[in-house]
Amino acid sequence: MSRRTATLRRPRWTGLASVPESAQAAPAWHADGLAHVWLPYAQMKTAAPPLPVAATRGSRIVLADGRELVDGVASWWTACHGYNHPHIAAAVARQLATMPHVMLGGLLHEPAARLATRLAALLPGDLDRVFFTDSGSVAVEVAMKMAVQYWINSGVRGRTKFVAFRGGYHGDTTGTMAVCDPDEGMHRLFHGLLPEQFIADLPCDDESTAALDRLLGERADEVAGIIVEPLVQGAGGMLFHDAAVLQRLRAAADKHGTLLIFDEVFTGFGRTGTMFACAQAGVVPDILTLSKALTGGTMPLAATVASRRVFEAFWSDDPMHALMHGPTFMGNPLACAAANASLDLFAREPRLAQVAAIAAQLTEQLAPCRDLPGVVDVRVRGAIGAVELETIDIPALKARFVEAGVYVRPFGRIVYLTPAFTIGEADLARLTGAIVRVLGTR
Ligand code: PLP
Repeated sequence: MSRRTATLRRPRWTGLASVPESAQAAPAWHADGLAHVWLPYAQMKTAAPPLPVAATRGSRIVLADGRELVDGVASWWTACHGYNHPHIAAAVARQLATMPHVMLGGLLHEPAARLATRLAALLPGDLDRVFFTDSGSVAVEVAMKMAVQYWINSGVRGRTKFVAFRGGYHGDTTGTMAVCDPDEGMHRLFHGLLPEQFIADLPCDDESTAALDRLLGERADEVAGIIVEPLVQGAGGMLFHDAAVLQRLRAAADKHGTLLIFDEVFTGFGRTGTMFACAQAGVVPDILTLSKALTGGTMPLAATVASRRVFEAFWSDDPMHALMHGPTFMGNPLACAAANASLDLFAREPRLAQVAAIAAQLTEQLAPCRDLPGVVDVRVRGAIGAVELETIDIPALKARFVEAGVYVRPFGRIVYLTPAFTIGEADLARLTGAIVRVLGTR
């Protein structure tokens, strides 16, 4: 679109009057985008216009006007090696020259074969059969369909529901919204559309453990599986629970004969301090989902990994026992090449040590937030730091953070940091310093 047409169309973005000067100086594509791109979770009429990004670099976002923001959220928790890591870029470029895409329908390519083999070797227990998709939500959808079909293939009828937990978040698709916390605002709207599931409290104490046991005792013959985000419920509020909770869930699933699904879309690949969160509990689920940092945050890719017990229920002469799912771009070779390169980096660079260092720095530097008015809690686990507030004015905070030279994107009543593991001490200090300053002068 020409600059002139873009100008004509500008009034459609009715929030234009409040566009800050920096955005007005933005390139022409920004105005075109404002007229045509529909942004996620944003009230397009009143939200501040998105910042025009020209590039990403290490742990920084470079705006079109040349300003650099230290990125506190690593693009929704994905860019664990920082942006533009040359090893991943080179692997994708090589793959691009050979085979950007071919379907997995009846075909198999080396990047997917290598990646599945490496994931099977890294994951605990007998989680060794990998089904590729292209987003975390779809990985969870597949886990749910896999669990339901596991029971059908095993000759058990009626197990089509899931036990999920308050505070949980598993995605934005219809199936996954149904296993999110039902009190979560953005999904409440769609309740008429969603299948009803059992939403319980996490078994954090004797009472909630007994309640879960009662629920499963009464309804286990309807339950295909229990689904949980292990150790950290991310988008539900950066809520942490102990490893013992996961052991109780394993025990409950075994006692009542149902499947256990760990959604490690957020926690997978080091975020909580170990390569996978389940390792901290010594618990092996029956199905595990991965995405986000799987490609180091570079390409859309996700995986649903089944244990042998689950896969064996699909190993049959009956064509109807095949897993009934198959996204067009599943196992895209570019994305698999990126994921393989990301795993190389985990193998040869000290990522988990970097996560431990980030945890220590976050613990020390966010501690002053505890004394600020309106702060309810400050918590750190691995490379996740969260400050929970009594009340929050998100647009005002976001703008203050940009002024402070950082990109921090609060949600709910939470201001949080999930930086790249490669962020240096100085950039991390700039993030924590900005949070202490901004929250101290609200
Ligand atoms: N599961 C968990 C635990 C998540 O944190 C998310 C996204 O934040 C999802 C699933 C959905 O992933 P995606 O946004 O890639 O669909």
